[in-house]
Amino acid sequence: MKQDTHLLVGIGASFFILNPMKDLDILVVFLGSIIGSLLPDLDLRVKHRALLHNLSVIILVSLLAMLLEMCLAPRSNTVFISMYKYFTISIILSWILHIVVDMVNPSGVSIIWPLKRTRFKLFRQGVKHDSMLGNISLKIIGMTLLFLYAYKLVA
Ligand SMILES: [Zn+2]
Repeated sequence: MKQDTHLLVGIGASFFILNPMKDLDILVVFLGSIIGSLLPDLDLRVKHRALLHNLSVIILVSLLAMLLEMCLAPRSNTVFISMYKYFTISIILSWILHIVVDMVNPSGVSIIWPLKRTRFKLFRQGVKHDSMLGNISLKIIGMTLLFLYAYKLVA
């Protein structure tokens, strides 16, 4: 799907699920979801939808985030660690959602690469990455999640 679609889905879902309340937490969730939504497509020129679109890279990034937290925690205050968690979880969550959204595409995603190159997709026919209807539908889902988060914030 298009970059702005990935961004809206990642930002909407991260805010809805993580529900940040403080200003700095809101900022790091926003930044983390942007990074997590866009980072997977760095493999655009090399093994696209394989190298950075698989479960092993998600597990690796999650382990690195946890290891870094274990190193930082003894020397950091609770506000910093809370922000760090919001930041890393929003990156990983948006990354996972980027992969799921790409699985809507007819060419699918090599989700178990490097074990197998087999590409998995959510639907038999799929929706092309530049399909206006597909992108608009996913953007509506992302925006709805963002509105629901805002609604929870003011309720
Ligand atoms: Zn992608």
